[in-house]
Amino acid sequence: MRKKIVAGNWKMNTTVAAGKELAKDIVAALGKVPKDVQLIIAPPFTHLAPVADVIKGSAVALSAQNCADKAKGAFTGEVSAEMIAGVGCTYTILGHSERRQYYGETSDTLVAKMALALENGLSPIYCVGEMLSEREAGNHFNVIKAQLEEVLFGLSAEQMAKVVIAYEPVWAIGTGVTATSEQAQEVHAFIRKTLAAKFGDLAKDITILYGGSCKPSNAKELFACPDIDGGLIGGASLKADDFIAIAQSY
Ligand code: PEP
Repeated sequence: MRKKIVAGNWKMNTTVAAGKELAKDIVAALGKVPKDVQLIIAPPFTHLAPVADVIKGSAVALSAQNCADKAKGAFTGEVSAEMIAGVGCTYTILGHSERRQYYGETSDTLVAKMALALENGLSPIYCVGEMLSEREAGNHFNVIKAQLEEVLFGLSAEQMAKVVIAYEPVWAIGTGVTATSEQAQEVHAFIRKTLAAKFGDLAKDITILYGGSCKPSNAKELFACPDIDGGLIGGASLKADDFIAIAQSY
């Protein structure tokens, strides 16, 4: 059974104090969210331990936004999967387009991060998606297929069962432009078909989230698509009311 998930990627936003308030507001509103919808929040590293305290005992799960590609040691400025799991995260986002674009993250790095995340009991939320130029050139399916094959096809079925996919067209992230539900469904179905070619029936159980300017006004139409199981939300996850309204959109 695939899960319904609404995950908030806070990116590099909020102070610790503001992040704790936001987490508190989300926990307080949980009663309004259908029980079968898993809420996940992904604050910055500095916020993970204090936010973990705020959401303790609630149904909200904690995610990091990234993890190191090395287990431990002399890697100044990095934060390991073991450290993230140790403060109470059960998920980590991996391969976000901002990491790929601005920090040179490659498939090789992501294979290492994926292995370490899984070894430490984290469920990776693995992001894939094309740039505008790639879509305009009609190359988006090839780009997404390569992102899936290069990073996920070396996993065992048992490992793959722990992975959540997020389709995030780069041209829709933070731009206010959302993929139409037809465009999103077409790619989600393609992702599921690509995974099925390698993992068989397991692909039916993989949760695939849509990300890219998802907000209360468009979540309902997106989530109604057969292969869209929820959302990875950036900007709209910074307001508890909007985040909760998105989670009510199934
Ligand atoms: C994201 O970056 O994961 C994202 C979906 O951002 P936004 O919702 O702001 O487009």
